Amino acid sequence: MAETFTFQAEIQQLLDILIHSLYTERDIFLRELVSNASDALNRVQFELLTNHEVQDADAELAIEIKANEEAGTLTISDSGIGMTKDDLANNLGVIARSGAKAFIEAAKQSTNGSTASQDVIGQFGVGFYSVFMVADKVRVVSRSYKKDEPVFAWESTGGQTYEIEPAERESRGTDIIITLKEDMKEFLQEWKIKDIIRRHSDYIAFPIYVGEVKEGEEEQPVNKQTAIWRQDPKEVTDEQYNDFYKMLTMDWETPLHRIHMRADVPLQFYALLYIPSNGERNMLNPRKEQGLKLYARKVLIQEYAKDLLPEYLQFVQGVVDSEDLPLNVNRESVQANKVMANLKKTITGKVLSELKRLAQKNKEEYLKIYAQFGRFIKQGVAVAPSDRTDVEPLLFFPTSTSANPDDLFSLEDYTGRMATGQDDIYYIIGEDFHSAARSPHLDAFRQRGIEVLYFVDPVDPFMLMGLDAFKGHKLRNVDEAEIDLSAVGEAKVDEKPVHESLAEDTFETLLNHFKELLGDRVKEVRASKTLTGSPARLVSDESGPSRQMYRINRLLDKDYDLPVKTLELNPRHPLMHNLSQMLASTPDNPLIKAVEEQVFETALLQDGIHPDPAAMAARLTLLMEAATGTQSADLDFTDTE
Ligand code: ADP
Repeated sequence: MAETFTFQAEIQQLLDILIHSLYTERDIFLRELVSNASDALNRVQFELLTNHEVQDADAELAIEIKANEEAGTLTISDSGIGMTKDDLANNLGVIARSGAKAFIEAAKQSTNGSTASQDVIGQFGVGFYSVFMVADKVRVVSRSYKKDEPVFAWESTGGQTYEIEPAERESRGTDIIITLKEDMKEFLQEWKIKDIIRRHSDYIAFPIYVGEVKEGEEEQPVNKQTAIWRQDPKEVTDEQYNDFYKMLTMDWETPLHRIHMRADVPLQFYALLYIPSNGERNMLNPRKEQGLKLYARKVLIQEYAKDLLPEYLQFVQGVVDSEDLPLNVNRESVQANKVMANLKKTITGKVLSELKRLAQKNKEEYLKIYAQFGRFIKQGVAVAPSDRTDVEPLLFFPTSTSANPDDLFSLEDYTGRMATGQDDIYYIIGEDFHSAARSPHLDAFRQRGIEVLYFVDPVDPFMLMGLDAFKGHKLRNVDEAEIDLSAVGEAKVDEKPVHESLAEDTFETLLNHFKELLGDRVKEVRASKTLTGSPARLVSDESGPSRQMYRINRLLDKDYDLPVKTLELNPRHPLMHNLSQMLASTPDNPLIKAVEEQVFETALLQDGIHPDPAAMAARLTLLMEAATGTQSADLDFTDTE
C-alpha cells in the first residue's frame, strides 16, 4: 500500500551532506522541529479564528516531546495545522527554504565536503532535514485541520526516496517519530531535551511538554512561553535576541542592530526590530517575502505585514505585537486601518530616530548599516518627502576632503565647515571616488578651498530629485554654468598658470573650429574662466531635477539622448596653445580634428556620461602613433570621428 517517491535532487544532496557531516552541534535539529511545530500551531490558530470548519477545534494548542527508551525513538507531536497526503509530498519532498539552497551552494563550494560543512551547517537554517543528522529513520504521521481528511504517514531513511502510506492518528496534528542513530541515543534523556528547549526555544508561544506526566501531577510546560518581544529588555540576553532573529529570518548571520520597543500611548504595542548584517542577503530574501511579523495580542495574524514600514525601510526585520488590533482583522475595517496607520507612523519614527541617534553618537556602527542599506535610505529622500528632515541626518558622502572612498561625512559636517562667503552646497556626480576626485570641475573649487560632496553612488542622482536644499542651503552641481565663486573662499595666489592666456581673437578662431566640428553635439563652445589644470569641461545651463534625468534613465536601463551641454575650453592650457598654433600653420592637418574630438569625448568620460568609451580606442591608437613619430598627414582619422 505504500507508495515510493524520489526526493528532489537538491534534497538528496542536502541529506548526503547532513548525514555525513561531522558537525557537532547536532541538537539544532530539535530547535528546527519545534519551530516547525510552532509555525503549524500559529497557522491553525489563525484558521480557528477565521474559519469555522476546523478538525478537532477544541484540542489544546501545544507541543509534546516523548522519548521511548526501548524503541530508541524520540517523538515530537503538535496539534497544529497538520498535513494531507499532498502536503506531505509537497512539503517534505522539495526544498522550500532559501536557507537550505544557500547551504547546499556553500557546501558545494568547499573542496573538502564533510569538514567544511562543519562550519557551514550552523550558519544556515536547514529546517526539517536537519533531523537526519541524528536519525536512521524518520516517520511523519499527520492529520490535517481540514475536516475528515484521511491520515497518512511519510517515512524515509534519508536515502534517495521516501514512502507515503495510510496511517492512524486520532486527532489533528503531526507526529515526527525519529529513530535515533546508535550514537545519538543521548537525545532520549529528558534532562537533555529540556535543556535544549530552554536554551533555544524558550520563547515559543505554545507550551512544550517533555516526557510522561507522573501519576497525580499537573503537567508543566518546559518553556516560559514569554514572547521575547514582550519581555523586559534587561531580562533578555544577546544570545536569546540573536537566536530569535535567526529563527525569524533564517538569516544565520548576527544582525547589525536591534530595536526593542514598547509603547503605551496612543497605542499599546511591542516591537522587536532588527537590521540584518547583509544587504545582499536581504535582497535574496531569507524570508519568503519582506514585511514584519504582525501579532494581535500574541496571536500571529500576518506573516508578512508590509504596511508597518515605508517601502524604503523594508530591509528592517522583526515582529510587532499590538494590543489594539482586532483579532479577526478584516482588512477593510476602518478601525483596523486606523490602528495600522498609527502603528506605521510610530514604528517608522522610532526606526528613523534610532538610526539618527546612531549616526550622531556612534558613527562607526552606523556606517556599517549605511554600507549595507544606504541605498534604501537615499531612496527615502526621493520617495518619501514627508520623512525628508528625518532622513537627511542619515545621509553620508565622501567629499573632496575625504582621505579615501570610505571616509564619509554628513551634510551637517559639510555645512559646519563651509568656506567664508559660501551659501550653497556643492556636489559633483561621478562614476566613482577616484574619477570624481580627478574631475576638471573641481579646479576652481580646489583653488578657493571649497569642499565638494561626491555623489558617486548610482542612486545619488535619484536621491537628488528629493534633495534640492539642506537647512536652507541650496545643493548645486559643480557643472552648473553660472556658478560664480568670486566671492566664496579665498583664491590661492601662488598657483600661477603655466601658460599665459591665449589672445582673445586667436582663441576665438579655435573655439569656432571646435564648434564647427562638434555641431549640435554641444550647445556652445566658449572660454572658461575657472579651469586651471584641465583643458576642457562640459557645463550645463539646465537646473532643477530634470538635469539628472539622463543619469536616472541610464540607471533604469532606459534609452535616453545624451544631454547637450556647453563645452568650456581653457585658454591657458598648453594643449590649447599647441592646437591654436597648428591651426594657424597647418590648418588641414587631420590631427587637429582628431584632438578636438578627443578633448570633447574626454570631457564626457570625465563626467561619467560617455555612452561608449571603447569606441575611443581606434582614435587614441592613431593619436599615439602620431605622438611617437608617424607623419601625421599620413594618418587616416576619417573613421574615428
Ligand atoms: P520551512 O519550515 O522553512 O518551510 P522545512 O523544511 O522545515 O522548511 O519544512 C517544510 C514544510 O513542511 C513547512 O513549510 C511546512 O509546510 C511543513 N511542515 C514541517 N513541519 C510541519 C509540522 N509539524 N506541521 C505541519 N507542517 C509542517
